[in-house]
Amino acid sequence: MDAEVTIIGAGVIGLAIAAEVSRHFPSVFVVEKHEKYGMETSSRNSEVIHSGIYYRPGSLKALLCREGRDRLYDYCHEKEIPHRRCGKLIVATREKEKQILEGILATARANEVVDGRLLDPGEATALEPNIRVAWAAFFPSTGIVDVHALMQSLENDAILQGTEFAYNCEVKSISRLQGEGYRIGILDADGQSFDFTTRYLINAAGLFAEQIAAMAGIMGDDYRTFFWKGEYFALLNGKHKLINRLIYPVPELNTTGLGIHTTPDLMGRQKLGPNTIYLEDHRIDYGVEASHAQAFLEKTRAFLPFLEPGDLAPDQAGIRPKRQKPGDPPKDFLIREESERGAQGLVNLVGIESPGLTAALSIGEYVRKLLIKE
Ligand SMILES: Cc1cc2nc3c(=O)[nH]c(=O)nc-3n(C[C@H](O)[C@H](O)[C@H](O)COP(=O)(O)OP(=O)(O)OC[C@H]3O[C@@H](n4cnc5c(N)ncnc54)[C@H](O)[C@@H]3O)c2cc1C
Repeated sequence: MDAEVTIIGAGVIGLAIAAEVSRHFPSVFVVEKHEKYGMETSSRNSEVIHSGIYYRPGSLKALLCREGRDRLYDYCHEKEIPHRRCGKLIVATREKEKQILEGILATARANEVVDGRLLDPGEATALEPNIRVAWAAFFPSTGIVDVHALMQSLENDAILQGTEFAYNCEVKSISRLQGEGYRIGILDADGQSFDFTTRYLINAAGLFAEQIAAMAGIMGDDYRTFFWKGEYFALLNGKHKLINRLIYPVPELNTTGLGIHTTPDLMGRQKLGPNTIYLEDHRIDYGVEASHAQAFLEKTRAFLPFLEPGDLAPDQAGIRPKRQKPGDPPKDFLIREESERGAQGLVNLVGIESPGLTAALSIGEYVRKLLIKE
């Protein structure tokens, strides 16, 4: 075999897997179609280190988020990656929403997130004087991270452990070899085609994971991915100075996002977002529609009363690869070694939406354990 392990995709997930498995395998390849790591979803998100409160107890999202959060804080500390444990408030603006907050706190406890507590208006405005609030749930362990610095560090770790990165190389075909392993067909940026063989194959292709699984002959409803865009607007006119933490609304039922919230970055700026727009036909569309500023104001004014028209400027957009189609309840990550489907040594990662960034280091370990049974 040319490689022991090949990872398709150099987003934060592929990088975290590379950094983990290269400690255990002698030859690891990462194949990425862009010229650099992290040019898709991994650089188009809120950069929040989630504490792990909303997910169904026992789900991969709940488990990997909680473990991944602690590992990520430790890793950031060890590698001096910029991050801040700024804390998060979920804000109810009506008395009757107190019950929803209590439900969120109960789910959080079931997920072993034990630092959350209910705040009355006095306690909440002591933390954030400029918000309007009836009740709030406060989670001090939520934070933010510089995702570019994180990805740089993971790439560096992987390279130091012998991983080879092939950028500008798009995977075009996958065929199973007799016995074990795979032949991977590549098209590079100069239009040259070549192929190589690998014993293990990890599909960390983000938005395109369903396509890659299909190339390897694995299809079905479980693998279907739906694209949900999220737009962000930057806060202008000094309004970013009026809040310090992550401030979220009470989430809606069967939500496809967590609601438009404030996200501070490590430079002290603040964004509002993301909204959720279903993209039909797997369209890649990173545009931010300026006219959506009005809807952002309407959604957030109840808890951010100081916002006015003219305070928001279009910023970035990202696309969530969800296994949830319109009308569905939230779905879990799919991370599966495919021996049962006749594809031994293939690991598919599908639907790695939020909290994928938070969970990345734990996902790396989870995948390694699928390859090496302990
Ligand atoms: C709007 C939004 C907000 C979010 N906010 C948060 C948050 O605050 N906290 C959090 O924890 N998570 C958040 N997430 C989720 C997080 O961003 C993702 O879970 C994570 O970035 C997924 O990383 P990835 O490596 O799987 O995907 P990607 O970053 O998309 O990487 C996949 C890579 O595969 C490559 N690839 C695809 N096909 C091929 C091919 N055929 N050949 C070669 N390479 C290929 C792509 O070029 C890409 O680089 C958010 C996501 C979105 C969209």
